Amino acid sequence: MDGGAPSSVCADWVNNIINPADLHSADVVIVSGGIIGCWTALHLARAGKRVCVIEKAEIAHHGSGRNRGNVRVQLREAVERDLINRSLKLWQNFEDGARSTVEYRVTGNLLVSYDETIVSGFQIEVDRHRAIGLEARVVQAAELRNLVPAISRDIVAGFLTTQDGHINGQLATWEAARQAKLAGVRFFRGTIAERIEHDQGKVTAVITSAGRFPTECALVAAAGDSASLLEPLGIKTPISLALHQILVTEKLPFITGPYLRCALPRISFCQTASGTLLLGLGPASDLALGAPQAVEAKKVEAISRETIRLVPALADAHIVRSWTGLFDLTPDGRAIIGPAEHIEGLWIATGFNGHGMAITPAVTESLAQTILGETPQVSLAAFSPTRFEKPLEIEISDEPVSRIGHLGNLVAPPIH
Ligand SMILES: Cc1cc2nc3c(=O)[nH]c(=O)nc-3n(C[C@H](O)[C@H](O)[C@H](O)COP(=O)(O)OP(=O)(O)OC[C@H]3O[C@@H](n4cnc5c(N)ncnc54)[C@H](O)[C@@H]3O)c2cc1C
Repeated sequence: MDGGAPSSVCADWVNNIINPADLHSADVVIVSGGIIGCWTALHLARAGKRVCVIEKAEIAHHGSGRNRGNVRVQLREAVERDLINRSLKLWQNFEDGARSTVEYRVTGNLLVSYDETIVSGFQIEVDRHRAIGLEARVVQAAELRNLVPAISRDIVAGFLTTQDGHINGQLATWEAARQAKLAGVRFFRGTIAERIEHDQGKVTAVITSAGRFPTECALVAAAGDSASLLEPLGIKTPISLALHQILVTEKLPFITGPYLRCALPRISFCQTASGTLLLGLGPASDLALGAPQAVEAKKVEAISRETIRLVPALADAHIVRSWTGLFDLTPDGRAIIGPAEHIEGLWIATGFNGHGMAITPAVTESLAQTILGETPQVSLAAFSPTRFEKPLEIEISDEPVSRIGHLGNLVAPPIH
């Protein structure tokens, strides 16, 4: 087993020698070679901007290359609904226009339970999802076994939504980077952004381990590392970290069509386009900044045990790989996206709470439009970085939410 994410390097990326003469100014400097950084760079370059991407490690090396690619519509927070709806369309367009597949498929999401009392909440969720125009239904024994033929007989029922998708995050991030490079974006990999320079309330440069990049516009999209660039500027980014561990099986025959999640315990997995299963068990564990992120044997054991309980036929499946990845969490479960209030030209996109891959296409499209001074396709006002300046207001929704309603937030506490 290895502790890192797989990395795909193709001929397009072999030549990465940084020539100091290259460090001339850019219209926008983006800190991050993750999916948010690469895709925002792509939009801006297509709009005619000169863009540099600064990445301290490698494209897709962190969350964007380590996730499970669930493009989840089910139990999505109301504030992210327009983003996920728009993203479903943009993911399909991206798949259709990619040089080779990024493995985007519509799979649906199936939430199942061993517990009758949890199942009683499924109908409430079905009604709530239908009321907002989504296809949803409660799935009983016969259909359940059609969708997941070898599922445990102890599972009582399921809650199915059908529009959710699945993406290979590693492939998608590299494809966004490849298209961005073609559009003229210059990538500086293995280069650390050390600080944002500003003068009289305006961004003047990004200072990196490879030199100074003069610019009037900088985007910090460095996930959990964003705070170390923003806090010295007096910008509050209350991000905490949680560690999640994934196990990968060998290629298997058909196990499940939809992305399968159990309400309690929170074991979940998808079957990738190539037939492997990506297994995980929530909730993710809190992690101090800088703490080791190693694969843990006791988690391998817990994930394996609960997987076998859910689908007993998987007892003989081989685990071929495991890795860990970080969720960057905010106090209200929402990402932090938008302009910094006191420094003109400084933009932030971070804190995607372990579910950012799904909404990336719409987030980056609207973020780029806002940076360009255009009206965004989807408003990002609810994600404003300035909301932490005052005490957080808890929004009360009129929608009837069941006991499982909070499971949309992947790091929510277990159901009691
Ligand atoms: C195990 C796991 C499972 C997940 N499953 C799902 C899922 O099923 N569905 C879903 O929607 N989302 C999922 N996510 C979340 C999703 O992967 C992230 O929300 C998404 O990838 C966010 O991407 P990003 O670009 O913000 O961050 P990242 O991919 O982490 O990119 C940030 C980049 O910034 C770079 N960086 C940091 N500091 C600096 C610096 N000073 N200078 C230069 N570069 C710097 C880092 O090296 C990194 O490459 C999962 C995440 C994990 C970890």
